[in-house]
Amino acid sequence: MIVEAAFLVDSLAIATFALAAGASAVMTWIIMEPCIDVRDRACVDVCPVDCIYEIDDDGKSVQGVQADAGRDKMLYIHPEECIDCGACEPVCPVDAIVMDEEVPDKWNDFIAYNYKLSGLTYEG
Ligand code: SF4
Repeated sequence: MIVEAAFLVDSLAIATFALAAGASAVMTWIIMEPCIDVRDRACVDVCPVDCIYEIDDDGKSVQGVQADAGRDKMLYIHPEECIDCGACEPVCPVDAIVMDEEVPDKWNDFIAYNYKLSGLTYEG
């Protein structure tokens, strides 16, 4: 538990330093296809900034964006709220979470989809 807490404190410090140093953006993590119909939510429990959301039963994201057909039963990460701590990745039982730059080609559109659900436009 102490090690986990130290990890999160370090991650927050790194993100804060990066922003203070003028970094244009902190990397984000992306939730991909394996989350569909699983929604384990362990990632939600460990995220230190509560930036992992679930699409509502009405098919809309928390930010009010209509989800795609067949992709409405999954979680997503708000790219501008994510601090790149990496805490969510190891707790996902279906390996649905990766850094944006490591998303496999077959699920590349899930990068834009996480942005879209968050009410943002992915610039590429
Ligand atoms: Fe939350 Fe995962 Fe981003 Fe960390 S990397 S802030 S746990 S979404």
